[in-house]
Amino acid sequence: MLTNSLIELDRQHLVHPVSSFRGHEARGVRVLRSAKGATVTDAEGRELIDGFAGLWCVNAGYGHESVVEAAAEQMRRLPYATGYFDLGAEAPIRLAAELAERSPGDLNHIYFSLGGSDAVDSTIRFIRYYWHAKGQPQRDQFISVEQGYHGSTTMGAGLTALPGFHDGFGVPYQWQHKISSHYIYRNPLKTEQEIVDASVAELKAKVAAIGEDKVAAFYVEPIQGSGGVLVPPKGWVKAMRDACAEMDILFVADEVITGFGRTGPLFACEEEGIVPDLMTTAKGLTSGYVPMGAVFMRDHVYETIAEGAGAKAVGHGFTYSAHPVSAAVALEVLRLYEGGLLENGRKAGARLMAGLETLRDHPLVGDVRGRGMLAAVELVTDKEKKTPLPAAVQPATRLFDRAWEQGLIVRSFAQGIFGYAPPLCCTDAEIDAIVERTRTVLDLTL
Ligand code: PLP
Repeated sequence: MLTNSLIELDRQHLVHPVSSFRGHEARGVRVLRSAKGATVTDAEGRELIDGFAGLWCVNAGYGHESVVEAAAEQMRRLPYATGYFDLGAEAPIRLAAELAERSPGDLNHIYFSLGGSDAVDSTIRFIRYYWHAKGQPQRDQFISVEQGYHGSTTMGAGLTALPGFHDGFGVPYQWQHKISSHYIYRNPLKTEQEIVDASVAELKAKVAAIGEDKVAAFYVEPIQGSGGVLVPPKGWVKAMRDACAEMDILFVADEVITGFGRTGPLFACEEEGIVPDLMTTAKGLTSGYVPMGAVFMRDHVYETIAEGAGAKAVGHGFTYSAHPVSAAVALEVLRLYEGGLLENGRKAGARLMAGLETLRDHPLVGDVRGRGMLAAVELVTDKEKKTPLPAAVQPATRLFDRAWEQGLIVRSFAQGIFGYAPPLCCTDAEIDAIVERTRTVLDLTL
């Protein structure tokens, strides 16, 4: 009964993010009540394995008392301190230092946001400021990658390259450009090296077409998440990074999904052997317990902005930048990652990938890809021709529903792709159950 009244209240008043308003009204909300480890319980008491860690964010898993305690303690002592007027609190200062110590290269300067979208948006602002400070204000053009996702603020949504975030909004703007995605499975090029070379050539051609002295920055996700978990060819990220350095364009790594152990190391850039000029993170930073994002800047970016501003304030900031409660949570979550969760995530990730690989024999499975605890299974009706599941026949909501009925939460992308991002705390039995339940869903979909 309680659930029924909640469903009705939700229908009448709560606007859900990235949802079909009418479709949601018709289906109604599924209310989640509690969670522990990798298991969530809905309002009817039904338990499900959360194979997507909320929205690829609860990397540490649910129900860590020490995280709750860290938040409560900070709230009791000092729930809020602004960073304006030269003020601050201990937790964000310590967190910035801990992150700088662990980040690749000289990404030593951290600006805290409330999540991923405003972290990306902040990079756009800082980059514009950087080029003004360098005496090149005409560098105001930005390039990103098709299938990419960089949040949904007014500016960031233009770097996002998924039509649903543009249609009806009048974005992207004229200063936002795209190059093709690597998307290995659907790329007509034969070898991974050919894809790398083609992407570098396309980026260079795009820059030449815009004007080399007009391009400000290039944005990359080390693994494209919302575009369908697209893992680039080996060396692709480094090749793009090197091309940007050659052309004197800032390179931004958007690690909002890939950061904090999702692909194995703390940051995916480590594995790629690169240091971006700026890096964005969120999600796993606080493991979804409270909102927070972070922009990392290299020394040269920070110094240029600092010199350019001189005695003036750099006019960018939010009331809740560097929130002490979020920072206290992030510090505790970091301790948990390093106290065994990263290690467990690496083992569980290898098991997940091996398990999902066994699904390749299923008639509906066209591709299995991923790294660490970030993976996808792409469904097709004809393996030879790689024919996507017809959206009208297998809408994403139906695949999601089928998984739900099996006690599994996975992301179901519109193109017929299952996305996986389980909490790093998963046990072997939970990983095996994710794979087995996926096979059952596939059998039911045949
Ligand atoms: N960047 C990437 C790569 C993301 O995947 C996301 C969210 O999924 C964002 C930015 C936006 O983050 P948020 O939803 O926290 O605003």
